[in-house]
Amino acid sequence: MVSRLPGLALRVCQGMPMPAVSPRRPHGQPADSAPPLRHDWTPAEVEALFDLPFPELLFRAAAAHRHHFDPAEVQVSTLLSVKTGGCPEDCAYCPQAQRYHTGVDATKLMSTEDVVEKAKQAKAAGASRFCMGAAWRSPKDRDIPKVAAMIREVKALGLETCATLGMLSGTQATALREAGLDYYNHNIDTDPEFYDAIIRTREIQDRLDTLEHVRDAGMKTCCGGIVGMGETRRQRAGFLRTLANLPAHPDSVPINRLVQVEGTPLHGTEALDPFEFVRTIAVARLLMPQSMVRLSAGREDMGDELQALCFLAGANSIFYGEKLLTTGNPDTERDQALFARLGLRPMHVSVDADGHDHGGTVHADIVAEAPAARSAGRPCAA
Ligand code: SF4
Repeated sequence: MVSRLPGLALRVCQGMPMPAVSPRRPHGQPADSAPPLRHDWTPAEVEALFDLPFPELLFRAAAAHRHHFDPAEVQVSTLLSVKTGGCPEDCAYCPQAQRYHTGVDATKLMSTEDVVEKAKQAKAAGASRFCMGAAWRSPKDRDIPKVAAMIREVKALGLETCATLGMLSGTQATALREAGLDYYNHNIDTDPEFYDAIIRTREIQDRLDTLEHVRDAGMKTCCGGIVGMGETRRQRAGFLRTLANLPAHPDSVPINRLVQVEGTPLHGTEALDPFEFVRTIAVARLLMPQSMVRLSAGREDMGDELQALCFLAGANSIFYGEKLLTTGNPDTERDQALFARLGLRPMHVSVDADGHDHGGTVHADIVAEAPAARSAGRPCAA
């Protein structure tokens, strides 16, 4: 396996014998005897899952997880910020919003050359997919050729491509797809009922429209949101129900736990009970059993025990590290140690001659100079 976690792989091999697990099915392939995917969840059904006794909920989620995936494998995902800060939106959690004073300086769109250089580093480190994020409400039409050039050149390196650029028109989505974009990240953020409390500069329907454009253009979707923003359990259920009832389940479902950034309106929000976060992961796994459920922003503040519970509850993807090819990165070392302690391993990467992955993926994370953005877990693109 080509991985940028060589130490981890070694430690896993030299540690406790790996538990016997059934081979992981390719992502999206129905499992034998698996119940059909549903897109018609009612509020009462989802709330009833949240209300299950904790051990029962985790048992059901873990069973669903291993029905579709090898529970010892975790997809390792990362991204490059190609344009940081200065965003005109008012997302109450986000340090990249221009209107909040969070110390994040706006940067210009990176040059294609610089992006390609980072992509080469990513590939050399074992990445098979390269994600590019820009803090925009939506790209201007004049931005599309620049981003398309990045996508084409990154694709030419043999990498899968992923982007998160804000809302897209149908024409823009098609242009990005034609440039070779494989995945598009666009979060619905929260429950439609709670949306106005968090974001006033757009409506959730705007997000749903972009997701439709992305699907119609033939790209895969990465879509989740943030919990711990002061929403109720019923609203957390509504958030997950909205995702599960989309016409197609997102291929990746990032679940962020709010990182409170000074200067943003949500700074000072009462912290979410950690067990409630685990419940959210478990319900996401039950509603969208074939999707990658990703621990995203907020993970760096979680203890190893909480992360272990999340993996037990069906999380099978994480953001890893802050900078590519960085040795001695404490976060990276912590993740390697956690994987070794838990007997987890990065999801196997298998890329065919056309550059398409089969099953797991490894993304490359090269975050531009934006410490505050990093501390917030890059919610726009998570
Ligand atoms: S989350 Fe995204 S859209 Fe919202 S303010 Fe931040 S960068 Fe802008």
